Formats: sequence, structure tokens, C-alpha cells
Amino acid sequence: MAQNKGKALIIGAGIAGLSSAYYLLQKGWEVEVVEQSDLTNNCSYGNAGMIVPSHFTPLAAPGVVAQGIRWMLNSKSPFYVKPSLSPQLISWGMKFLKHSNQKHVDRSASAIRDLNLASSQLYNEIAQKEEFDFELNQNGILMLYKTEKVAEEETELAHTATKLGLSVDILDQKGIRELEPNIKLDILGGINYKCDGHMNPVKLMKQLISYLKNNGVVFHTQHRITGFETYGKTIRAVIANGERFTADQFVMTGGSFLPELAEKAGIKIHLMPGKGYSFMHKPEDPANRIERAALLLEARVAVTPMGGHIRFGGTMELAPHRNKINMSRVEGIVQSIPKYMPEFQIETPKESDIWFGYRPCAPDGLPYLGQASRLENLIIAGGGGMMGLSLGPVFGRTVSEIASGQKPTVNISLFNPERFS
Ligand SMILES: Cc1cc2nc3c(=O)[nH]c(=O)nc-3n(C[C@H](O)[C@H](O)[C@H](O)COP(=O)(O)OP(=O)(O)OC[C@H]3O[C@@H](n4cnc5c(N)ncnc54)[C@H](O)[C@@H]3O)c2cc1C
Repeated sequence: MAQNKGKALIIGAGIAGLSSAYYLLQKGWEVEVVEQSDLTNNCSYGNAGMIVPSHFTPLAAPGVVAQGIRWMLNSKSPFYVKPSLSPQLISWGMKFLKHSNQKHVDRSASAIRDLNLASSQLYNEIAQKEEFDFELNQNGILMLYKTEKVAEEETELAHTATKLGLSVDILDQKGIRELEPNIKLDILGGINYKCDGHMNPVKLMKQLISYLKNNGVVFHTQHRITGFETYGKTIRAVIANGERFTADQFVMTGGSFLPELAEKAGIKIHLMPGKGYSFMHKPEDPANRIERAALLLEARVAVTPMGGHIRFGGTMELAPHRNKINMSRVEGIVQSIPKYMPEFQIETPKESDIWFGYRPCAPDGLPYLGQASRLENLIIAGGGGMMGLSLGPVFGRTVSEIASGQKPTVNISLFNPERFS
């Protein structure tokens, strides 16, 4: 470990916060984490566990709005925006519309690719440590489709991916079946993004917490930050449960709660929670194994092998936080699975077996990563959206570099946290 740099305080113990703690520790910072919850759940636990250099297209892209409107008419569809006069949603929607164009996609693609590739490499390094075994498997993700229309779109995207230097195979039915011989697949074909991978996020989160605790990181759980004490251009302390927490450097994560948190520090961040669901399934026949994670494209359902089970996940409901399960959306996921994987005739899980989480979605689909402009000792790391797990380590390394006065290894110029302020 490097020479002591001072004390860093991280707000939020999701993957962005824990990764920041991990890399700050390596650079010689004394680290504390303040978390409003109890370290057993947040968006970083129940997600699909995918590492996704393939996701170089931001959420705001051409065609997304028209498709979204068609989906909104179906209660079981994978995407939903709750009609509302919420100023937060209206302002987010206007910005989303403004960015849903090819120019934005072209400008962002290589920056997102580089962030994900760097992070994927950092996951490989973490997995080498003896304290970690989180089922990391960098064996690709299959994008599976059933229709000619999606085949055409995905083939075009795969060609763009190849031009961006990503390792991709366009496969027919037979090619996919050769890769996954242990399950029946009713598909037209698919793309194998060999640059992608998957893991078990619950194991990763638990192991990161143990590692950090064993290396001296102090966690203050059940402490919700409700205020910032500033002096000129610096934060002196944050307030939680009436207690003051001081530090030299502050790191603000917070996932989908980032806007509320940032507002308390006088910073405007635009973000909507994108609620999604997941559940675990144990195949009746253990021979029904899949080796790779997959996305069932028309249904937008994620399928990930995890600890002898399969995790299915999906849907994106853009609306303010509401901790209620919409069973129609979960049924939408369940019913779409056998259309691609006929052996998986799955019963709708009980509510208690369904996990939900809120993706932190920025209106232009790009993360928020960098130094706050008016507060010299505040770094913001959030807005990972659909790829927040994948981006965890590169968020963390970048935070540690900025805090230590170094130029970030990756180019973060498009990710300015105050770009909409
Ligand atoms: C169904 C689903 C599938 C997904 N699949 C994938 C995938 O395969 N790959 C991928 O890369 N991403 C995936 N994601 C997205 C990914 O899970 C998120 O982007 C990521 O977990 C966000 O991490 P985070 O650390 O920013 O936020 P979180 O994990 O939500 O952590 C934020 C933490 O901050 C705390 N906090 C907030 N406010 C305060 C406060 N005031 N005081 C103290 N603490 C506070 C919260 O309690 C929380 O613990 C998926 C998401 C969903 C819903």
C-alpha cells in the first residue's frame, strides 16, 4: 500500500462506492463509507451480472423513443414510462429526446467502449486476488433474436462493434447451438460478443465488503446523509443521523438517489430511476446448463448462469422510486423465456422471491464521473444506468486517480457530472 494520503469518505456502498474504496485504499487513503442501508441490498446485488463492452450505444439512441411508445401500450412490455407531470421526469424526458440521435451515439460510442474495456480488465485483476472468487467468466454474451427485423438491426450493430475493435461473431442458429449444446433454443440466430463476460454480483459485493473491512475500511451503516457542511469551496463534513463525518476528500455515489444527495450539496444532477426485476431459477434437469450469459433481444430479458442457478432479469420502468412489484411486468419476463428456451416453462415466482432495483439512468445514457466544479474536495461517480456493475472498477480507479491528483487513465471528458447544470 502507498503512503497515507489523508482521509476519504465515500457516500453509498453500491459497486461505485465499494470500487472507489478499493482503489483509494490502494493509493494509500484512509477510507470510510457511509451507507443509509445495511450492506445487504441495493441495485448492485440483484442485477444480471454482465460485463458489457458490447453496450457502446447509449440508452438515448435513434429509434428508442418510437419503440418505447409502442411498448408503453402493453402492460407486459419490457419498457415503461409512467405518465406523470413530475418536473423531474419532464425535464429528464426533454433531455433524453434531445440526445436520441445518431450524432450523440457516434460521439459517445468509443468513450463508453473504452470505459467498459478498462473496467473488464480491472475485473480480471481483482479476480486474481486470493480473497475473490465471484464466478467471473469472460466467455462472451450471446444476443439472441427470433425475428428478421432484429437480426438486421443487430447485424448492423455487430459490424459497428467490429469497426470499434470489439471481438464479435455473427452466428446462425447452428453456430449458437454449437456454443450452447446443453439447452434447446428456438431462435433465428445471434451475435456472440466475445468481449463481454458475466459474474455473480452478490458474491462480488460480499467479497468486496469483507476485503475492505479486513483492510481497515470503516463502514457506517444505517446512516443517511442529509446535509453537507461547506466552507468556501470545500466540504468540511457530511451529516447523517445528527452526526458529523469529516474527511479531506469526499466521494458521492448514491445510485438512483444521486440527484437528491447532490442537491443537498447544491449540485443539480439529472437522473431517473429505471426499475428492473430479477429472480433465480434452478433448472429441474441439471443438464440444462447455459455456459454464457444471454440477452433475449425482442423481450429484453437477461439470462445469466449464476452458482448452478440461472438469473433472469428485465424490464425498465422509468418513474420515481416506488417499492412495489408490478407483477404484470414480471409475468412479461416469465412468459417470454420459453419462446427462446422452450425447456424453461417457468412459474411466475412469488413476490418474496422477486428482486427489484433502480438503475441510475442519465438522460443522455452516459455516466457521471469526475470532479465537482464548485467543491474542490468532492468527486462524483454515478449514473451507470444499465452498465453500472460493468463500470464499477473503472469508476473506482478513476476516483482514486482524481483524488490523488493524477490524470485519469481513461478519458472522462464526456462524463462531466455537471454537464446539464
Ligand atoms: C434488473 C437489472 C439488471 C441489471 N443488470 C446489469 C448488468 O448485467 N450489468 C451491469 O453493468 N449493470 C446492470 N444493472 C445496472 C447496475 O445494477 C447499476 O447500474 C449499478 O448497480 C449501480 O451501482 P451504484 O453503486 O451506482 O448504485 P447502488 O448499487 O444503487 O448503490 C448506491 C448506494 O448509495 C446509497 N445511498 C443513496 N443515498 C444515500 C444517502 N443519502 N446516504 C447514504 N447512502 C446513500 C444507497 O442506499 C445504495 O446502497 C442492472 C440493473 C437492474 C435493475
